[in-house]
Amino acid sequence: MSGPGPELRADCARCAGLCCVAPAFTASADFAIDKKGGEACPHLGRDFRCDIHDRLRPSGFGGCATFDCFGAGQQVTQVTHPGRNWRTDPEAAPAMFASFAVMRPLHELRWHVREALTLVPQKTPLARELAEADRALRQHASASPGELAALDLDAVRRPVTAALRRELSPRHVPDRVVAVSGIPRTLTGKKLEAPVKRILRGEPPDKVASRDSLADPAALDAFVALAAERSAQEAPLRLG
Ligand code: SF4
Repeated sequence: MSGPGPELRADCARCAGLCCVAPAFTASADFAIDKKGGEACPHLGRDFRCDIHDRLRPSGFGGCATFDCFGAGQQVTQVTHPGRNWRTDPEAAPAMFASFAVMRPLHELRWHVREALTLVPQKTPLARELAEADRALRQHASASPGELAALDLDAVRRPVTAALRRELSPRHVPDRVVAVSGIPRTLTGKKLEAPVKRILRGEPPDKVASRDSLADPAALDAFVALAAERSAQEAPLRLG
């Protein structure tokens, strides 16, 4: 198995800028503005290209620099809704955006399954189950807009996560996936795994990592915010 193919890599030239229109943004460290779902980002050009592509991070759009649709954009534009365009064909817009909301996590799962197939030994039960999941996911990705809208993503994920838990370890199945603008690395490129774990466990960031030694000190901010969010969620339990 050769890994994720071109159909699972973003091809903006064959997309209608769906990731810049369909999702809602909340002003934060990753996005400079609030934007409602279905509203085009003011930086999206008439040609569906980003006007600030070469300066996303300094413009406050680091979230766009790290976002990956895993090829969902071109799949929705070219396969699910061929010949339709939300801008010139507003009636098609809600259905296109709804398809994109399903296709993106579906393509992300396809990407991971294809990647896993390159890592697990061939002809093992896990390899066979992943290959079967890959076939099923490809069929789902080719479904009609109505079929996609009715797709139960949790049910689609279940066989993959069950196989990974059973054949490998529950450690390989994340409880939660969080998008961040960058992975904290030292100036020499080493990932800051242990300090990030300690920050997520609630230790003060300045005590476990020196920002001066990081290639991108701002990359730590998302983990500090996540630790604060986890701490706030756990606080009532501690008080009780
Ligand atoms: S800043 Fe650029 S990449 Fe980000 S949503 Fe707007 S147009 Fe798209």
